[in-house]
Amino acid sequence: AAATASAGHGGRRRHVLLFPLPYQGHINPMFRLAGVLHARGCAVTVFHTRFNGPDAARHPEYRFVPVPDGMSGAPSVAIDSVVKHILALNDACEAAFRERLAAVLAEYSRDAVTCLVADAHLLRMVEVARRLAVPTLVLRTGSAACFAGFVAYPLLCDKGYLPVQESSELDRPVRELPPYRVRDLMHMGSDGHELVCELLARAVAAVKLSSGLILNTFDALEAPELAKLRRDLAVPVFDIGPLHKFSPAAGGSLLRENRSCLEWLDVQAPESVLYVSFGSLACMGGRELDETAWGIAGSGVPFLWVVRPGLVCGRAPDEPARLPEGFEAATRGRGVVVEWAPQEEVLRHRAVGGFWTHNGWNSTAESVCEGVPMLCRPHFGDQMGNARYVEHVWKVGFEVGDGGELERGTVEAAIRRLMTGSDGAEMRTRARELKMAAAECTGNAGSSELAIVRMVTHILSL
Ligand code: UDP
Repeated sequence: AAATASAGHGGRRRHVLLFPLPYQGHINPMFRLAGVLHARGCAVTVFHTRFNGPDAARHPEYRFVPVPDGMSGAPSVAIDSVVKHILALNDACEAAFRERLAAVLAEYSRDAVTCLVADAHLLRMVEVARRLAVPTLVLRTGSAACFAGFVAYPLLCDKGYLPVQESSELDRPVRELPPYRVRDLMHMGSDGHELVCELLARAVAAVKLSSGLILNTFDALEAPELAKLRRDLAVPVFDIGPLHKFSPAAGGSLLRENRSCLEWLDVQAPESVLYVSFGSLACMGGRELDETAWGIAGSGVPFLWVVRPGLVCGRAPDEPARLPEGFEAATRGRGVVVEWAPQEEVLRHRAVGGFWTHNGWNSTAESVCEGVPMLCRPHFGDQMGNARYVEHVWKVGFEVGDGGELERGTVEAAIRRLMTGSDGAEMRTRARELKMAAAECTGNAGSSELAIVRMVTHILSL
């Protein structure tokens, strides 16, 4: 009895308008959501910026509407620069989006448009849509726990947890949001404090203005956190994740995936390979890259490592990162280095036995759902909080380096612990259990499947 978009409208397809934030970790879940909505009969129109714009040819089933962002060049990958970029994109796109949206509304018959689903970081677009009487839903691409942290942020500032004044405060437990410590909250030190407050307040405002919050998480992973959000927010919350299980390989990759690594995985022993990737934005110093490389080499464990251009901090986003001299010779036949991998397929591959990750939410959720235990090295934003849940709530991994400088001996020992140690084996067992729990949520009449039905019904009722 799944809701479909033509129901009640004489068989005419109804339109859902989408506007992703133009970063990889936000584009992927929005395109997966597009796949879910399209499969349920909705026509999909995607508004997008020129910056990190999608390849329309890969999605002939959707309509694309470019919104000029009037901004020159890409931001550097430094986190304060990304936050400023997100805030500036909102302002830069507002007027152009109003004009494009009005044009789309004039073209489609008015009752054919159901709503705009915008990324939580696009408050200005939510406001524009509301002024044009278009209902909105908000997609927040992080965890429920992370969003609960956004909601509680002003309170946590009032209570003196933030901004962090001294490093000794970082380990203070946040009683209002266990198991977070201060270091696990989104923060950027006192210089960036106002900027973070602004970013998070806007995301919460976007949700409060809208008719629903869509989260890429699921009941078996975050039931208490979802219950808290439902108590604290006056809008419906749809926990429809993990979205990649409903709409895999959504074709939103900004970098070209190197698929040859899958063939190499095909000839490796089951669960023998460590997959290493720090996502699309995190960067590391040159020394840390070297220590990481020698730690991987010294561990003796087979590996697939994503070394994307721009991985070294302060370099141009397209500048290839150079691995230390002698690394290739030292690891020949035992590892593969690529610039970008088909991550969903890699994590699903039977040869992969562990994931060294920066704990972006997509990577974390993808790993959990494939039953792959994690070595955590969070860099910024929500990644510290995600790593905290991996280690202390789900117990399917542990942090390497504790936020300090990495050293090759630490890396070697951590990799061995995860891949061949007895507690690594226990984490793998728990990861398999979580994988089964995730499969139940996404399966027939599972909580996420039911949430999708509720979400589509809700969208069609707007
Ligand atoms: N990803 C990928 N290939 C790679 C590395 C990452 O396809 O080599 C995808 C990954 O599957 C995930 C997204 O890029 O969906 C990264 O999002 P995440 O939230 O993990 O991190 P971010 O890039 O936002 O820091």
